[in-house]
Formats: sequence, structure tokens, C-alpha cells
Amino acid sequence: MLRIRNAEGVTVLHETTPENTRKMIASEPLFAADTDDPTFLSAGEIKEIQNRNLKRQMERVADGSAYYKELFTREKIDPAKITTVDDLVRLPLTFKKDYMKDPEAFKLNLSNPTLYDWLWEVTYTTGTTTGVPTPFYNTINDAYATFQLLFRAMKISGAISGMRSVNLFPLGPIPHIGFFRARDITTMSLFGQGSFGCTGMPHPEFKIHRSFDYAVELVERVEAQALVGVASFVRRIIMKAEEQGRDYSHVEGVELLGEAAPRGMRDDIRGRLGNMGADRPFISNSYGFTEMQGAMSECEEFSGCHSPDPSLFFFEVTDEKTGERLPDGETGLLVITHLNRTGTALLRYVIGDYAAITHEPCSRCGRTCMRMEVAVGSTYASRTSELINLKGTLINPEVLRDEIANTKGVTEYQVVFTKKDLSDPYSADELIIKVGRSGGRPEEDIAADLEKRVQRAVEMRARIEFVEMSEIFDPTVALKATRIVDLRPTE
Ligand SMILES: [Zn+2]
Repeated sequence: MLRIRNAEGVTVLHETTPENTRKMIASEPLFAADTDDPTFLSAGEIKEIQNRNLKRQMERVADGSAYYKELFTREKIDPAKITTVDDLVRLPLTFKKDYMKDPEAFKLNLSNPTLYDWLWEVTYTTGTTTGVPTPFYNTINDAYATFQLLFRAMKISGAISGMRSVNLFPLGPIPHIGFFRARDITTMSLFGQGSFGCTGMPHPEFKIHRSFDYAVELVERVEAQALVGVASFVRRIIMKAEEQGRDYSHVEGVELLGEAAPRGMRDDIRGRLGNMGADRPFISNSYGFTEMQGAMSECEEFSGCHSPDPSLFFFEVTDEKTGERLPDGETGLLVITHLNRTGTALLRYVIGDYAAITHEPCSRCGRTCMRMEVAVGSTYASRTSELINLKGTLINPEVLRDEIANTKGVTEYQVVFTKKDLSDPYSADELIIKVGRSGGRPEEDIAADLEKRVQRAVEMRARIEFVEMSEIFDPTVALKATRIVDLRPTE
């Protein structure tokens, strides 16, 4: 559904169609003024812009990237001959481990920098194998590009200017894009009114962090129209508010980031918000990551994650084994190439997720930019490292997650891979599903339903255990719920 402001300034819900999308854009002066928006151009026109930007980007990289200069020499590649996005296939893939090994080698050191090539800020990637955060540098050029990206992402998700929002990303000890880009998206990009939950690990000296309960109350106090944050965390805020009988009737949209939000999770959130008075809120799940500095957004639930600014990035999907580019619709490794950056710059960078993309026009909004398709269950991507060997069979826990999250009565869950006898490494593998439940559905019903679903998803039997929800996820301590736990001894 689209929210369109009428002549009196009142927002009215409309079906998401190409025609209504145009109407929505016309009704928002800031959106209407964005006449360079490439997401509605023909495939050929988009490619032309991408090729033009890639050519300039290759010159920058050849001039200022220590990593790629070395690679071009070693692989005998003439960077001047990479002039189109189709030529990119001649370049080898860049992996996370290459970037993490020497992040400074990916930071451009241009011979003739302009004012816009000066450093603006440093953000960091999280989840490194060594535990040391990897810096990702943004110049002024990159920061401005990101503001445009975020603006266009909000345009896709149908946000309206001036809206009140609450940023529910925690204020972490290192500048993480979740917190900062949610700040930019809700306040600067759309010129809205943003408030911040400021939860997170307290500093011993500076009393700037707030409690979980403060965030729950804040949403009501500022009458937030939009909530932005990590999916499982935002959901717990909403659960707590419902428990306390709060008024969340003003919530029009929830932007879930940082993890997949399967259909069951979205329906659950919508139901709870509905119980607090909200009218058909848009429960959106964008796909973002540090190396993009933003996210791809949905125009409608499950419509695909649209690349909001194809002039900035080229995406492709490659075969995990051969590294070859795959056609649309096939699942493989998602790969990004920066088309306009002067800080950290990456070419054919493997993000580390399995996904499938399409260039077919979106049937809902009519955009022609690249979209990530729903590839795994009812979610967009899965971490490749999460393929797990259980009882000698490789299973994708994402499929399992989807089935469990979509089971009625399941509020929190955790998948545990263990052994029949943990002290004996040769004992048989065991699959346990811990469930936190709410609502009236009896435990036997939930268990029977779950057993059937797990059997169907991974052809395996699971032991179902009902536990307290806080045993699985305590939002006052953790950033997100841990959905998969492997207790088995490593060999
Ligand atoms: Zn669309």
C-alpha cells in the first residue's frame, strides 16, 4: 500500500501500482524535483549511465588503489580496457578476506584530489573473523552519494517528507552504519523529525545510553510514524509496548534491517501494531550492508529489494565455484562494484550472501532498476557460511528459519545443532528447536506443526523444547536474536 498526501495534506492509502507510484512522487515536492532518478529509465539507459560512471571509476582506481594497481599488474589487465559493466567479468572477484587483510590498500589515494575527495568519516564493518573492525572510508563525494542513495531508497518505500521517526539502532562503540545511516535517512534525506532510542552498551563514564523501556515509551511520546532498526530488536520493542497497552496507532511503517524478516515475522509485527491501533502499517525489510552504505528497499512487502540508485553500484550474481556471472533468477553469490566512490573503492566485491536478482520491471511500482528477488523461503538472502552439515547432509538453516518463523504461536525461536552426547564427538547429531510461545495455541499443536514443517524443509526430525523467551533473546543485553547455535565440537 502507498500513502499519498491529498490536496488537504491528509495521507490516504492506495494500492501500489505504477500509476499510483507516479502520483505519490508527484505529490511530494522533494521526490518530484528528483528528475535525474534513474530507477524508471530503460535498461539501456541505466546501462549507459553505469558504463559512463564505471569508466571514470576505473581511472580513479587505476590511479589511486594500491590493491587494484597490484592486481592489474599481476593479472596483466589493462584497466583502461574495462569500459562497460560487461567488461567487468574480466576482473577476478574481490573477497572479504582480501579487503580485511589490508583495508588501507582499498582506500583511494588520488594524484589530483578535489575538495570533494577529502575524508568525511570512517565507518566500520562488523562481524570480522578476527574481531578487529575493518575501516570503510567515506569522502565528501561518497557521503553526498550516500545521501542521494538514502533519499531514493525512501522514495521507493513510499516515505513522506516531514515524517516523525524513531531510530532504534543501538548506539554502539564503533560507528556502525545502522545507527548513522538510519539517522541520515530519517532526518536529513527526508527532512523529517527523528528521535533516537540510544540503547546499547553503556559507557562507564559518559551517560549517553538509554534503556530499552525508554525506547518503548519514546515511540509513543513522539507519536512516531516510522520505526527503523534491527528486525528482532524492533519486534521486541513492539511486543513490550503491546504488553503495556500503549498507543502505537500513529505507526505507518516499520523498516527492518540487519537480518531477514520472513513472512511470519512481518505478520506478527503487523498484528501487534494493529492491536495498538495502527492501520495497515508497511512492514518493510530492506537489504543493506556497510560496503553499500545504505540499503535496497521494497516498494511493497516481498516486491523485491530495489537498487535505489543504479548510477552508484553495479550488482551481479556469480557462481560460487567458477566465479562466472549468472543469468537473472539464478541463485549465487551477490557481488557489488562501486561506480562512484573516492574513499574505499571495491570492484566485483563478494558480499558473502546467496541471492538472486532480476532486471524485469517491478509489477508494483513500475521501476526498471535491478531488484533482489525472494530467493530463500520468504527472505532475500542467506549467508553462505551458514550452510550446515547435519547428519551428513548439507542444510540451509535459512529455509528452516523461514518455516519456524511462519508457524503460528511461535514468538521467539532458536535452532540448536548439537550431539546426542556432547562429551562424545562421535555420537549422532541432534537438531533441537527452542520455542518461546505466546497466545492461545496449545504447545502440542505448535510442536506437531513444527515437526511437520521441519521434516518438510530439511527432511530431518527435530526435538522441540518450549522455553522462556528471554532464554533465547534478551533485548536489553543483545542487539539481535541468535537464531542458529552450533554446539557441536569442531574437528
Ligand atoms: Zn517496485
